[in-house]
Amino acid sequence: MFLAVILAVCVTIFLPSFNSSNQVEIVNTDLPIEKYSRQKGDTEDATRYFINLFPDVEEYPISCEGDCYPPTDDIKCSENMHDCQYIGAQPTIKDVAGFDLHWLGHASFRVQTDNGQVFLFDPVFGQFDWPVNWGFRVTQGFNRQPADAVEFETLEKVDAVMYSHNHYDHFNRADIEKINNEAQFLLPLGLAKRFPGGDYQVSEMGWYSQKKIGDVTAHFVPAHHFSSRTLLDQNQSLWGGWVLEHAGKRLFFAGDTGYSPHFNDIAERYGEIDVCLLPIASYFSESRPEWYRKVHTTPEDALVAAQDLNCKIMIPWGYGNASWRMGDHTSHSALFRLLHMQKKMNAQTSIYVMNEGEKQLF
Ligand SMILES: [Zn+2]
Ligand SMILES: [Zn+2]
Repeated sequence: MFLAVILAVCVTIFLPSFNSSNQVEIVNTDLPIEKYSRQKGDTEDATRYFINLFPDVEEYPISCEGDCYPPTDDIKCSENMHDCQYIGAQPTIKDVAGFDLHWLGHASFRVQTDNGQVFLFDPVFGQFDWPVNWGFRVTQGFNRQPADAVEFETLEKVDAVMYSHNHYDHFNRADIEKINNEAQFLLPLGLAKRFPGGDYQVSEMGWYSQKKIGDVTAHFVPAHHFSSRTLLDQNQSLWGGWVLEHAGKRLFFAGDTGYSPHFNDIAERYGEIDVCLLPIASYFSESRPEWYRKVHTTPEDALVAAQDLNCKIMIPWGYGNASWRMGDHTSHSALFRLLHMQKKMNAQTSIYVMNEGEKQLF
């Protein structure tokens, strides 16, 4: 991984910027609420070093202690907690909110609203961008088993693409050209300069700013995380989640996030959320457990977040056969822990477990 990062740094330094042909707008609230630790330069496009809305989270409402991964008949695997399919019961979807969901693997989703508009969250179809994918191979890091090939119809007629942050498993420059360039691309503040050139319509957004895309409103909301593509650009672009609002119904995509009071903050602004897409993986590390949990929710953190957010239904993501298994025991360990903690906490939020490539109307 270290070699990969060094290569990425070199590429950053030597590659020219390709973004000049895009139309870039900045969208923010009248009183911006994102915070930054310092600012380099005093012009409008000065470099800012962003920090979290609630930077000092150190305690968590509940933690699984011991025997967190008991076997279950609801998940069928070819090896121990590895290479699996969920085969258990699903909750009945009583009030359909009108979000037709297609899980493309890891953090990538396609969402179609019932008026026919199409949105993508964090589309990454193959491996990491070059040179990190190449660095992984050299250093015998892990290249994922890609999800099923993405069909062309998934990518045509996309109205908007929303990115949560710039990490390689969420923002893939090489995949952008596969998407029609009539789509609007919505990015966190500071990320447009990383966007490939190509006459794209790009909006950089601050927390709680919103943009209308046809009949749908996209709100960019806080997450508890960080950003970096190289050793030199830590936290220079923002991170966050998205609320899609259509016909009075709301879908929330959390992005990468740890547990923090920002979930309550979002709930205060939006009230009930019909569909919540919440990450449950990448929290485990032998060497740096505190840091990993700070920036990625454990399954039990995600269950508490679903409660904080008044989610009517929760869809977990981040684990899976097409995940990179960074910060996880195995491909599906996080899902085993989620099912275990759901019972243990007697969690009331309905959970719908998708398998990668699955489509479902919520
Ligand atoms: Zn991340
Ligand atoms: Zn991630």
